[in-house]
Amino acid sequence: MDIELGISQTALAGIGLLFGLLLGSFLNVVILRLPAQLKGNWRRDSRDFLGLEPETEESVTIVAPASRCPVCKTPIKPHDNIPLYSYLFLKGRCKFCSAPISIQYPLVELLAGLLAAYFAYQYGLSSTTFYSLIFSYSLLVLAGIDIHEKLLPDQITLPLMWLGLFANLSGTFVSLNESVIGASAGYLSLWCVFWAFKLITGKEGMGYGDFKLLAALGAWMGWHMLPMIILLSTATGAIVGIAGIVFIGRNKDMPMAFGPFLAAAGWLAFVWGDKILSGYLSLFNF
Ligand SMILES: [Zn+2]
Repeated sequence: MDIELGISQTALAGIGLLFGLLLGSFLNVVILRLPAQLKGNWRRDSRDFLGLEPETEESVTIVAPASRCPVCKTPIKPHDNIPLYSYLFLKGRCKFCSAPISIQYPLVELLAGLLAAYFAYQYGLSSTTFYSLIFSYSLLVLAGIDIHEKLLPDQITLPLMWLGLFANLSGTFVSLNESVIGASAGYLSLWCVFWAFKLITGKEGMGYGDFKLLAALGAWMGWHMLPMIILLSTATGAIVGIAGIVFIGRNKDMPMAFGPFLAAAGWLAFVWGDKILSGYLSLFNF
């Protein structure tokens, strides 16, 4: 389903960039508020289950309360909430209390903008662009939440997996066969690693969210990308983990989020996986 608008690729990329920057602000809100909303729900359910009085504190959801400075609580006006521009204009500080604004905001906005520009340039206004953006933005949000909370919410990983299977019903990225085997193999491979690691060391090396995320990646791009994703994510994860211990004195018993590495490796495999695989295989063709 391609729509021809008679617009140049560059113009589409420009529109994509603006659209992505705006969506990036929303992704920031999801990264920061979805975990708070989930924790609120879990607390309420637990109190209900235990027969305790309901708590009275204000609940946070993705839409309420309105954006405000986390330090001085001053509400942020729409004209101070322009993606990227406001951060640069305010020099990364709150207008009222000068508290530093997290670099996450402009970074996520910029990434979201560049992703939309890239896919719009590559695939124009098509279902491939639409699916690729949902996929990329879900990974971005999952990586952000996992960094903050060491959590990959089912509310994102599971719909992402189902959507991958659905997109491949018509072979958008890979055949349905590859997609179904990818989802199953993605989940089960890490599930086996988890239990092997636990039996040998008595520790939990990763979480169930990681299995679900790899299942989602398998659903989107098929089983044949899984070895590359696992290799890339564990290798970079190990390098970053060791570098953290050596250079910044990270406590080696502190769990490190694996989701961001899986998400990054998954995104690379999604976009350049075929090129990487064929380049790698051609090494052995002499
Ligand atoms: Zn402030």
